[in-house]
Amino acid sequence: MTDKRIAVYGGGERGGKEALFLRSYSADVTLLLPIGEPRPGPHIAERLEAAAIVTINDVPDSFRFQSDAVLIDTPDGALRFDTLYPALGSDIRSELAATLGADRSEEGCLTVDTHQRTSVPGLYAAGDVVLGLDQISHAMGEGGVAATTIRNDLDEGKPTWR
Ligand SMILES: Cc1cc2nc3c(=O)[nH]c(=O)nc-3n(C[C@H](O)[C@H](O)[C@H](O)COP(=O)(O)OP(=O)(O)OC[C@H]3O[C@@H](n4cnc5c(N)ncnc54)[C@H](O)[C@@H]3O)c2cc1C
Repeated sequence: MTDKRIAVYGGGERGGKEALFLRSYSADVTLLLPIGEPRPGPHIAERLEAAAIVTINDVPDSFRFQSDAVLIDTPDGALRFDTLYPALGSDIRSELAATLGADRSEEGCLTVDTHQRTSVPGLYAAGDVVLGLDQISHAMGEGGVAATTIRNDLDEGKPTWR
């Protein structure tokens, strides 16, 4: 990423914020707004302009990947970037846990205690489905905490002696 020509593909506040984040890695960041996606609000638009991030609207999902570049068709013609960063967000798949009665945040994330226990005894959660950082290292750390808690909770009920 560092000092590369970066394209960020994503709409609304999310796309704008991701482009601003990546501006710390490169002076050459372009925000590509997918067709039909909302534009960033005035506050983000102002920051994008101040950061010299070019925004191109109504970009179709037409990408041609080469060994060292990606070509993207835009209303301004085909543009070449070193890298493409998708900023399309994520869907929180907590429905299954919700059917068991697990508490969720307004966004739909599972709420857990400091040991990854959900509100349902015997049900634990870790990673992006829990409100948090959305980073691999964080998800793995929470997984480790959950595994230890599961072991300890099982041991409480019935000692796991050999
Ligand atoms: C474009 C993008 C770039 C990213 N870049 C980085 C990065 O550079 N560094 C970083 O640390 N993090 C990055 N992340 C975030 C990182 O990918 C996530 O934080 C991490 O993958 C979370 O792991 P997870 O196991 O919680 O969830 P996931 O990796 O999403 O795994 C959940 C799995 O559960 C499956 N699943 C969902 N519902 C069900 C169901 N009902 N039944 C069975 N299976 C189900 C899904 O198919 C999926 O395989 C990025 C994310 C995106 C989208």
